Amino acid sequence: MRNGAAIRRLGIMGGTFDPIHHGHLVAASEVAHHFELDEVVFVPTGQPWQKADKTVSAAEDRYLMTVIATASNPRFSVSRVDIDRPGPTFTIDTLRDILGIYGPEVELYFITGADALAQILSWRDVEELFTIAHFVGCTRPGHTLHDPGLPEGMISLIEIPALAISSSECRDRVEAGQPIWYLVPDGIVQYIGKRGLYHSGTVGGGK
Ligand code: ATP
Ligand code: MG
Repeated sequence: MRNGAAIRRLGIMGGTFDPIHHGHLVAASEVAHHFELDEVVFVPTGQPWQKADKTVSAAEDRYLMTVIATASNPRFSVSRVDIDRPGPTFTIDTLRDILGIYGPEVELYFITGADALAQILSWRDVEELFTIAHFVGCTRPGHTLHDPGLPEGMISLIEIPALAISSSECRDRVEAGQPIWYLVPDGIVQYIGKRGLYHSGTVGGGK
């Protein structure tokens, strides 16, 4: 049963998206179906604080790949809030900014895979996070999905089709000259080739 017609249900899919792959897209699509979401907003991170010691591709490349991968789905959109905010990305800021844009008449569903969910209690302002959004944990091959100890009713765990794909493996495959066709949307293969991403010495840069 849907609540009042004026309330919109908004999924938030945060990620580094370096690059975006079919695992991300299936997770968003499954959660959208399960919770009858009106829209899923993909939010590429600025500098992810969990990955501060790693080289991450330029925000603009990750943003554009996310736009390309989601363009064909009318319920998917992409937000620049995290890449336009200086400093490391904290989910609490993401959710506050999204609420600022969409207004109070939305219910937020924050979508994570099992690995990200397991770390959630270490996130900044974790108590407030649960007052702003409902959390949805999705199964992910290689990771065990369990409630990390969130307050009662704050989280849902759902099983989604298993896609053993990670951005790290896509990057490694490009570096090694192996194909990533069908792991990522066709446009992403083309974009990575065009920009020369993930080859030694060019990560984070362009041509
Ligand atoms: P990296 O290997 O660089 O960490 P990644 O594949 O884990 O990349 P992220 O951008 O770190 O992708 O993940 C964004 C979100 O998508 C996280 O919540 C993560 O758990 C989830 N996710 C990523 N890949 C999958 C997958 N194959 N199945 C389910 N969830 C996934
Ligand atoms: Mg990851």
